[in-house]
Amino acid sequence: MRRAGPVFAVLAALAIAGAARAALSDADFDRHVAALKKKVPSDAFTIVVQKPFVVIGDESPAMVGRRAVGTVKWAVDRLKKDFFEKDPDEILDIWLFKNETSYRKHAKTLFGSEPSTPYGYYSDVHKALVMNIATGGGTLVHEIVHPFMRANFSACPAWFNEGLASLYEQSAERDGHIVGQTNWRLEGLQQAVRKGKVPSFKDLTATTEHQFYRMDKGSNYAQARYLCYWLQEQGLLVKFYHAFVAARKDDPAGYETLKRILGEKDMDAFKKRWEAWVLTLRFP
Ligand SMILES: [Zn+2]
Repeated sequence: MRRAGPVFAVLAALAIAGAARAALSDADFDRHVAALKKKVPSDAFTIVVQKPFVVIGDESPAMVGRRAVGTVKWAVDRLKKDFFEKDPDEILDIWLFKNETSYRKHAKTLFGSEPSTPYGYYSDVHKALVMNIATGGGTLVHEIVHPFMRANFSACPAWFNEGLASLYEQSAERDGHIVGQTNWRLEGLQQAVRKGKVPSFKDLTATTEHQFYRMDKGSNYAQARYLCYWLQEQGLLVKFYHAFVAARKDDPAGYETLKRILGEKDMDAFKKRWEAWVLTLRFP
């Protein structure tokens, strides 16, 4: 840019501002990795750029590479194909600790707190997914959904954010698309169904964040997950997501959109059919 005059400088500045909003550059990732290299606790850690994430782990380098491609890239590619247009606008780190000892120790030394879950969590403050990868890749895929949801549907209510994220805790591929399968959340849901303790879908979709997370009687995640699973099995899940995003101003809870996509007027009758179907499901 030898001949850059004032006009050019302004255009360049606008281009940089635009680029910051649009996409992270290779140079952004290089800088980020250089900073991470100083931060990793020991030589045992491998750093792999898997855009829009950076994966850092203390399993063998080959295994960290396999996680980055086989789990992170696999899930990201398929989630973007069906749901998410935009990447998160910041680089997020995915820390994969090889076992519980490493997970607990490093969560404390790197992020300053004891994990409240044995599997893993997302730290907004540290822009990091922190995982005990010995418990499997399910929680990792769950946590990957959240930053994409935030980037694409920031007003998404907790019920759908957690329903979709939990759906992919147990995932596979069908015709090139990611699909959720039954998982450990089924048993508790079946018990709640048998006891008649599952709220109406109107109540579930109306929950605030506080109600969904803090006042859960135990079935919120599973009810939301198996509603998503029902939609998926009817071929309606992707359609529902896009309709929900499109109608978010008029129907922020998604309930009217849900009725419309299901083609249901009587949601109590739907709930009875859905509950009977839930009782037929099996895991494993
Ligand atoms: Zn979640």
